[in-house]
Amino acid sequence: IPVISIVGRPNVGKSTLFNRLIGKRRAITDPTPGVTRDLIPERWYLGNHPVTLVDSGGVKVEREGFDDLVANKSLSLLSQSDAILFMMECTAVTAEDEELLTALRPYSEKVLLVVNKVDGPKRDDLVWEYYQYGFQRVVGISATHGLGIEDLEDTLLGMLNMVSLDEAPEETERVKLAIMGKPNTGKSTLTNLLVGSDVSIVSEIAGTTRDVVMGTFSYKGSDFTVLDTAGIRRKSKVEEDVEYYSVNRAIKTIDEADVVLLMVDAIEGLSDQDKKIANLIVRRGKGIILVLNKIDLLTGIGNELQAIKDRIRFLFPILGFAPITSISALKGQDIGKLLDTVWGVWRQLNKRVDTSQLNEAIKEWGEAYQPPRGSMGHYKVYYGTQFSANPVKFLMFVNRIKDFPPIYIQYLKNCIRRDLGFTQIPIEVDLRERRR
Ligand code: GDP
Repeated sequence: IPVISIVGRPNVGKSTLFNRLIGKRRAITDPTPGVTRDLIPERWYLGNHPVTLVDSGGVKVEREGFDDLVANKSLSLLSQSDAILFMMECTAVTAEDEELLTALRPYSEKVLLVVNKVDGPKRDDLVWEYYQYGFQRVVGISATHGLGIEDLEDTLLGMLNMVSLDEAPEETERVKLAIMGKPNTGKSTLTNLLVGSDVSIVSEIAGTTRDVVMGTFSYKGSDFTVLDTAGIRRKSKVEEDVEYYSVNRAIKTIDEADVVLLMVDAIEGLSDQDKKIANLIVRRGKGIILVLNKIDLLTGIGNELQAIKDRIRFLFPILGFAPITSISALKGQDIGKLLDTVWGVWRQLNKRVDTSQLNEAIKEWGEAYQPPRGSMGHYKVYYGTQFSANPVKFLMFVNRIKDFPPIYIQYLKNCIRRDLGFTQIPIEVDLRERRR
């Protein structure tokens, strides 16, 4: 049975978390805060897996008034644990925290850094700062309010290989598709084809809650949901135009989606508005596929389709990574190819790169091309971690953020794309300055 220990300085919230996880108050043998409390293992169920949960008591490492017995127990607990929940507070980092950080360094592979007391406004942002300590996994919670506990459990399940987070998305997971584009590009036609019913006749009833889902369908064993998007439901032209040209509406749709199909009339090409929408999609880290529709109307003379694609690539380099597919929604042509592309993009969106693999790669990229010198000496990239999937975001810890050369960030992005398998999606790379 795996052993999970909770470690942290006194008053950081260990007991509160412990009680929350096991779902009851357990007896504490000695009320003196921190030091002399005994280690009390409890049976806990993580998912459906039985585990042993241990509160380390107040671990104190090499400090005055330090209780040898507790300390020794605590240290041997660390080596015996399969996972260590190391608790810190989002509001303060103390010398005791720093000492524990050092003591935990040898076990960093099995540490989940739990940032507690993330319950006030704006505190979410503080969690980011804790990536600087170099642990692969960080989760923000509020033990008192029960926030973030599910994330904590999911992460633990992954760490203990009880459910592998690296595998394909679970069967129950749905790929959320938004179909966007100018009026008359064929959005309704494609939606009807995919969900197999005439959705365009469904009209909104004023004053009722908006139904955001147009329909669902399966393809090769995966489930897809088509979100309601401006212009799919029949409306007056004016209304539709207003919706497509409203940034707020577009952002709302994009935020709900995993992958956006940007429908473009193959003959007309990309409009300025398409480019703006595409920019929003990229900035929010969503998957985007350019769908050239109505290819049945192309003459087939020369390599017309390729010329259209080249033109888009040339005029819109920011979408260099986005797949371009061509279909005829009306004739049902190449829809399978489109859905295969959607699936590929979805896989990349949900891909997670191991921190050790990433850091190997960062070393190699740095050897191939060193960060440039600034007025205060060379810039350095110490290490990095994948902060999130879907949207895919990386954090890089550097010696100096000020004037960090954008060209080097671009270089890192290109390397991540090329070497780590994120060729078809937008990725974000954020910098953090490492302390000391
Ligand atoms: P929406 O405004 O983007 O939802 O566009 P619609 O789906 O209503 O399509 C606009 C018009 O284009 C309709 O007359 C469709 O029949 C037509 N259309 C849609 N897809 C295709 C296609 O692949 N080929 C051709 N030739 N016409 C299409």
